[in-house]
Amino acid sequence: MKPENHASAIMGKLWEKPAKSASFMLKTASMVAIIPLVLGACAPQNKLANISIPLSKSATPSPTAQKYMISTANPLAANAGLEILREGGSAVDAAIAAQMVLGLVEPQSSGIGGGGFMLSFNSENGEIAAWDGRETAPDGATADMFLDANQKPMAFKDARIGGISVGVPGLLAMAEQAHLEQGKLPWARLFQRAITLAEDGFVVSPRLAQMVAEQSDLNTFASTQNYFFHADGTPIQAGEKITNLQLAATYRTIAEQGAKAFYLGSIGYDIGVAVREASINPGTLNSTDMVAYRAQKREPVCGPYRTYLVCGMGPPSSGGIATLQILGMLQEFDLNKTKPGSLTAVHLVSEASKLAFADRATYIGDPRFVPWPEGLIAPDYLKARALLINPTKASTDVVPGMPGMTGVKYYGPSSESHGISTTHLSVIDGDGNAVTLTSSIESAFGSRLMVRGFLLNNQLTDFSFSPEIGGAPVANQAGPRRRPRSSMAPTLIFDNDGNIRAAIGSPGGSSIIGYVAQATIALLDWQLSPFDALAMPHFLNRGGAVELEIDSAAEVLKKPLEAIGHQVKIKKTTSGLHFVGRTKDGLVGAADPRREGVAVGD
Ligand code: GLU
Repeated sequence: MKPENHASAIMGKLWEKPAKSASFMLKTASMVAIIPLVLGACAPQNKLANISIPLSKSATPSPTAQKYMISTANPLAANAGLEILREGGSAVDAAIAAQMVLGLVEPQSSGIGGGGFMLSFNSENGEIAAWDGRETAPDGATADMFLDANQKPMAFKDARIGGISVGVPGLLAMAEQAHLEQGKLPWARLFQRAITLAEDGFVVSPRLAQMVAEQSDLNTFASTQNYFFHADGTPIQAGEKITNLQLAATYRTIAEQGAKAFYLGSIGYDIGVAVREASINPGTLNSTDMVAYRAQKREPVCGPYRTYLVCGMGPPSSGGIATLQILGMLQEFDLNKTKPGSLTAVHLVSEASKLAFADRATYIGDPRFVPWPEGLIAPDYLKARALLINPTKASTDVVPGMPGMTGVKYYGPSSESHGISTTHLSVIDGDGNAVTLTSSIESAFGSRLMVRGFLLNNQLTDFSFSPEIGGAPVANQAGPRRRPRSSMAPTLIFDNDGNIRAAIGSPGGSSIIGYVAQATIALLDWQLSPFDALAMPHFLNRGGAVELEIDSAAEVLKKPLEAIGHQVKIKKTTSGLHFVGRTKDGLVGAADPRREGVAVGD
């Protein structure tokens, strides 16, 4: 996929008012005229129609750079990436070096015991590649593996712990494959900073310390307990310097021998032993499963938004499709004429999100087993879906659409949890290549099993626990060699000349979709600065109630939203958006203030 090949992308400049086509102006202008009028006409909403989240322009400037830039969830990781960029490393090189440090200093979120999705833009040949390093279920997995003895779905906490939830990790295979194609520096070089930090020690961050202290079951297995707790049982503390000699040794082996040391060698063997011999929920994963793992290079999913081309990750992630669907429906409304975070805008985003989540639940699973209808992101389909949005009233009966595919209807699980784990990083290098990488071990601290200095994921709990709902098979059901559906949405944005304009993404479970969609709207429609766009109080909808960020200015919309028929929940929304963008003046970056990240560059 090359950005200039996308017919729908029309000329525009990021963070400058986009030029619009005449027909677009006509269509949206009439819609915008109607919304405030109708909202204003209903007595109880009279005063509410003009309400919006109060935003003050923040004093925090978005860091800028001229040559290259990286934004990650931890300064040590960002600096490891920067070091690589300074040596002439590619965006892929920098992403791998930063990721290896994240596995050490932010072990609760990601690591080589997990997986991820990455989009890369190669400025030399214009290729946008979508890399799938998603965990895969072992051969021994079954559709009912997360049902209890009474055939009822297990409680999430009970399913997460131990061996059953562990999928074959995919991060390392993906990193190696991408490096083979787009790396410039030697593979071993990318591990040096992480090895040094693991051997010499690194300072425990407040977030890591807090999360260790909050997890009640982190001391269940000895290897995990020994690493995160002192001999007297007290958890590691913020500011304390700790080493991880086991991880340093693991990284050295992989640096010298490549990913085969992990998948074919004794590291993979040890992963299988830890899973099968777990004292709680022993699983089936073995060396054959490890050997069989392959990362996949896929086509990205792309679609127009205003004057830009937005590209994301397709199945097995639902992130790219759902984000594109939300944006595609919102194309029909002139959001840039609404105030940032206005009641109108939040209502429209929420309604588009409900429609997108209905399709997501129905159609998205592992594409090897469940082909997804490509009509889901077709502009005509999204236009038709947008017509279902009542601009003044919340919908109550949202059903999936029929995007040109008949036959089996799939239904997904109805409840979703917010993620507080996972990590995202964004890079643009000196040659204009870009990487956007979201990686994860699923829950904070994954399955709680630790092998050779890294935690094993619990990504298989992203499968639907029930294999069928109402007698129909679920698209996202568990099974041998299947990849669980994700919400990760690493995203690249281009202008019509095929220039990379932004790399963005976030952790947050199924809320990722809302975080990325909101930030994109804040940047492109509302022209907020990157920092303000990321810091903006969250509003999102995962197919039910509107969720407003707790203790934020967004709470002001609770009553007005209820007045037009929405259910509203006030929730913690711990996004971790990381952004690097390119303007006419150079590079600009931002890191979500809700976590510990930074954007750095030269
Ligand atoms: N496992 C989730 C997914 O793949 C990510 C979890 C999180 O962001 O915390 O969508």
